[in-house]
This record gives sequence, structure tokens and C-alpha cells, in this order.
Amino acid sequence: MQKFSKEYICTHYADDPSRYMGAVNPPIFQSSLFTECEGNEPGKEGRWAYTRVSNPTTDIVERKIAALENGEACLAFSSGMGAITAAIMHYMKKDCHVVAVASAYGPTKNFLEKYLSRFGITVTWITGNDVQEIEDAVQPNTTLIYLESPSSMLFIVQDLKAIADIAKRHGIHTVIDNSYATPIFQNPLDFGIDLVVHTASKYLGGHSDIVAGVVVGSKEDIKSIQSNERELYGAVQSPFDSYLMLRGVRTLATRMKAHFANAMDMADWFAKQDYVKEVVYPYYHTHPQYELAKKQMTGACGLMSVILDMPGEKMVQLGKELQLFHVGPSWGGYECMYTCGGAFLTEDTPTCRKGMARIHIGQEDTATLKEDWEQAIKKVL
Ligand SMILES: *Cc1c(COP(=O)(O)O)cnc(C)c1O
Repeated sequence: MQKFSKEYICTHYADDPSRYMGAVNPPIFQSSLFTECEGNEPGKEGRWAYTRVSNPTTDIVERKIAALENGEACLAFSSGMGAITAAIMHYMKKDCHVVAVASAYGPTKNFLEKYLSRFGITVTWITGNDVQEIEDAVQPNTTLIYLESPSSMLFIVQDLKAIADIAKRHGIHTVIDNSYATPIFQNPLDFGIDLVVHTASKYLGGHSDIVAGVVVGSKEDIKSIQSNERELYGAVQSPFDSYLMLRGVRTLATRMKAHFANAMDMADWFAKQDYVKEVVYPYYHTHPQYELAKKQMTGACGLMSVILDMPGEKMVQLGKELQLFHVGPSWGGYECMYTCGGAFLTEDTPTCRKGMARIHIGQEDTATLKEDWEQAIKKVL
């Protein structure tokens, strides 16, 4: 495939105003079915029939994401979990085994461990920062290595090339949740990973207004998922969500640059504050895997963690005093977020650390964000 710049793909790729009376913004094909007519003949390649299978508005956004990930094809889903479970099921067999990153997204872990155990499927959890640990976890019935790099709580970076090589040697497939880096900063297919999944509820949508997901991979894998996991489970993206996602993707490259620059500035600033013990951000020089992150990513997003030197109650109060950092789950929108999951932990867990607060840096200017922290800290400490 011809390589286009990320910016070009976001803005113009896969758009064709001549198909839509010159409209630069393609219409929302809010139609469940497509009837036979001239140009939509039965048996014609790319023919539209039913929106659970394909839809012209969804098709544009799928083509943009496939191109952004250097993949052959993409499918959009009604949620990130819809995409993740479809990608995992694509590789599942009765009584098979999965090697998965222990700091992965919670519901993904529940699906792998609690739900799939019904079908005799077992999981070995690995930290992800040690290639040998992954090789050692492989069993004769392993069919999938599931990665999330960087993971979205602890930001553990996995060596994508080395892991893809191990998987190929053992005839195992690989899936990665690339939601953190986005296709702007990391393209795992380039390292030999089989399928990339994203929640589009975070950066791809970017405006905290949709719940959506995507799977990207080879034509062959995507065709199979389209007619099996997506068509049969039915978690397809609605045309209206495709329209909102398309609107978000147009500015993805620009937004990610701003998130990255803001996050680097805030990481530097947090590192200088007395009440911050550690900044956990994969593109910050103190991250234990900074060199690996730089090798396989070209930047990082607005999500980081800080280990705070204050009692749990103060961490909770800080969330109340911050005006621009909202307390709640999720991230990837234009807004700042603060969650202090580690406030009352007495020891580190596989998904969180003692005293850890996860912070999302939005699209605001960092001078205003620092002022907000200063006024909040004054009230708390
Ligand atoms: C939010 C999230 C998901 C799940 O996506 P939904 O769109 O909420 O289903 C998956 N992976 C990561 C890393 C996430 O942060």
C-alpha cells in the first residue's frame, strides 16, 4: 500500500466528495438496509446490503484507521470491548491457552480469565516487561499472546518485535490493545503483531461522546472477523457513531501532538514537586523502559500516573479541590481527568501501585493546569 502521512490520512484519505454531490463531510448513511439498484447490483464487490455487515459511512472511518495502522483492513465495533472480544475469539479454540499482560484493561482480563474459563480456556498472566517470562509461559496449547503496550494503568512497555518473533516461532498469534499510543505514535503491525485493537471511546473519538472500537489486521483475518465475530455477535458500530468518530479522527494527528507536548511539560513539572515521589510516563526519561518506548513509539499520549507522597484521604481531597481535573474513569477526551486508585493501597497490585493517581492531560494550556494544581495543593497540604 502507498504510504501517506498520518495527517493526510486523518484529513483526506478515503474521502471522495464526488460520490456525495461534492459534500466535503460525507453523509450519515442512517439506513439499516441497502436495496438492489444500479451501482449496487447483487454479487458486485463492495456492494452494500445490511449495516450489520457494512455501511458506507462506517467504511470511510474503517479505511482511515486501517491506513493509519499500516494495516490492510479494519472493522469498527460498538465498543472497545466489542472489538477486543471479537479479536480474542478469532483465535480461541476449545481448551486453548492464552498468555496475557497482567496490567491490561480490567474487563479484558475478566473476559479472558472469568468468562472464557467456561470453555476450558486458561490464562497465564505475565508482567510484560521481560521477554523470557513470555517465552517461558508458552504451552503446547497456547494460541494467543495478548498485549497492551504501554498498559494503561502502569504503563508497562512490551517489546513488540521480540514478542512477535517468539509467537511466530511457536505458531501463536498476537493481539495488542494500542489505545494508549494510538496509531499516531505506534504501529504494532509493523513489528509483526497480527491484530491491533483500539477503544475508539478514548483518543480516536477524542470528544468523550462515543463508545466505540476497532480491529485492524490483514485482509484475511478481517474478512473472517467480519463474517464471524462481528456479524454473528453483532457488535457493529452505528452509522451515527461512525460519523462522530470520523469527525474525531480528522483532528487525531493534531490532537495527539498537543496531548504529547502538554504531557511532557506536565511530567517535567510534576517531577519537581515535593509531593510527587515518581512520575510514571513511558516517554519520560525516568521510566525504566524509556529506551524501549523510544525504539517502538514516536511519542506518547496525555495519560500518566504520579506516585504521591501524601495520605489516601489527602489524595481524595485533592480530586475534589482540582477544578479542571475531573474525577472519574476513562481518558482520551479533550478534558483532564484524575483518579486516585492507589490512595488506600497498602501494597502494589498487578494493576495499580501504592499512592498512585492516574492523570489525563487534556487539550488545555499547561500554565492554567499548573495553576489549578497549585491552588488545590495549597488547600490540601
Ligand atoms: C476504555 C478501554 C477499553 C474498553 O473500551 P470501551 O470502548 O469502553 O469498550 C479497552 N482498553 C483500554 C486500554 C481502555 O482504556
